[in-house]
Amino acid sequence: MTGSLCRPAEAETGSRSFVFLLVWFALNALATRVFCADPEGYSSFWTASSALAAGFLVLPLPRALSLAACCFVINMLVNRLVVMDAAEGALASLLNPFQAVLAAWGIRRFCGATSDLTRVRRLIPFAFVALASAGMEAAVGVLVEVRWLGDTKPAPSEWLQWVFCDATGLLVSMPVTMLLVRSRSRRTILRLRGGAALLAIVATALCTLSAFALPRSGLFLFLFPCLVVLAGTIGMAGVFTAIFLVALYASAMTAHGIGPIAGLSPDGSLLREGLMQPFLASLFLAVLPINAMLGERQRTEARLRIAKTRLEHLATHDTLTGLMNRQRFRRRVAAVLGRGHLATVLFLDIDHFKQINDGFGHQAGDRLLRDFAGRLLLIAGESGCAARLGGDEFALLLPDEQGGEGARAFCAEMMDRFRVPYAALGHKRVTVSAGLASGAGVAADALLHDADIALYEAKAGGRDDVRFFKQTPSPAAGRPASSGNDGLSARLQECPAA
Ligand code: GH3
Ligand code: MG
Repeated sequence: MTGSLCRPAEAETGSRSFVFLLVWFALNALATRVFCADPEGYSSFWTASSALAAGFLVLPLPRALSLAACCFVINMLVNRLVVMDAAEGALASLLNPFQAVLAAWGIRRFCGATSDLTRVRRLIPFAFVALASAGMEAAVGVLVEVRWLGDTKPAPSEWLQWVFCDATGLLVSMPVTMLLVRSRSRRTILRLRGGAALLAIVATALCTLSAFALPRSGLFLFLFPCLVVLAGTIGMAGVFTAIFLVALYASAMTAHGIGPIAGLSPDGSLLREGLMQPFLASLFLAVLPINAMLGERQRTEARLRIAKTRLEHLATHDTLTGLMNRQRFRRRVAAVLGRGHLATVLFLDIDHFKQINDGFGHQAGDRLLRDFAGRLLLIAGESGCAARLGGDEFALLLPDEQGGEGARAFCAEMMDRFRVPYAALGHKRVTVSAGLASGAGVAADALLHDADIALYEAKAGGRDDVRFFKQTPSPAAGRPASSGNDGLSARLQECPAA
């Protein structure tokens, strides 16, 4: 069954979630039954079921069942507190887990794997899940009341009120409950972004408080734009929390005859039947388009970030080999020299590469370039860096430990590695010429130029060779002398400055 209640991957085994949901159920039950109930003991909405539904979603089944049992006891006590008839209280306490199981199954089946109900595409199916589960619960409740408790058959409007009471409660509280139970740190719900967010929170709080304290002001209408601004500044998780708090406050005030909604119906009959539930539902509907727009904006931003990263990579890397390009390599050399360090640069060029292209084809030539780049990367190691300068010309910035005297041994080993046959050419060997220049306190372009001259010398000297650029001291040039790798072997001869 795709909608099985507790998937192992989803279930949290820790007892923290269990305790949190138990306390959350008790708080919601007390708040809605004690503060938000009208003189007959009925609330305009019932939010506590969300704790049970969340339990069936995030706890292993045995733990979820114990939560339901504990919540049943709490529910009975709270119902007794508000002087509900014992049989009626027991029925309400039993119907709660019934609705929660239905809702949890529906959420799992229709609202996606992560049960994050702050997303529009999950929230809309969830609204139907909330209505359907509340509808079934109310239907069973009415049946039991009529059959066994001797109640008269209720009017359809009364049955609808029961449905809306539980559906609205679940709608208002489930997103927040899921966020709270999932969030490792409860504080992550509010991600404040600067003063605008704080201002929006203060404005919403003031608007909510004054709208119900000054009943004839019509200030409650400003709640809608406040929530929209809130959505734009603190995100949907914060908005759903705000709606939940506004709902509790508005409902409690209305139940006690205070505020604009109670003012419209002095006898309290509108508390449940006329305005309260549409008011709460409309708060949700007001922020849904913002939610969708925010989601779209986030997706666009993510796409732009990926495109920017790709463009940056394209601008600084070679597409054939993936190595960095000439500009980036030059910047890396300049950075090393800028820190006052010694930089040792090697320019490499494959010998007679045109013949390889002609003899084996351009594609084989490409494969060889890629193989060559792979070897170069291995040679560079983690602390060095390799680049393709263009065509069959490559460069290496040697790691610190390979600078100075170490360069000789390094180059000898490197040339040996390049002589190993290449699979791309049917295991044919190729040779490479290289020019090395080393210096500190010089300009990057000058050092690269020196390496280029050394490479030219290696080519002119018959190829398959490494030449080391040796700066002839020249005060007129005004450039400090490159530091020494004097005495390199015959395979690593010095070449004079241009
Ligand atoms: P030398 O020994 O003097 O280096 O001779 P060479 O034949 O290697 O000639 P040179 O380095 O001057 O020319 C490089 C050739 O590489 C020229 C061009 O046809 C070829 N080339 C440049 N870019 C690519 C590429 O991306 N793929 C392939 N297959 N060939 C390329
Ligand atoms: Mg070449």
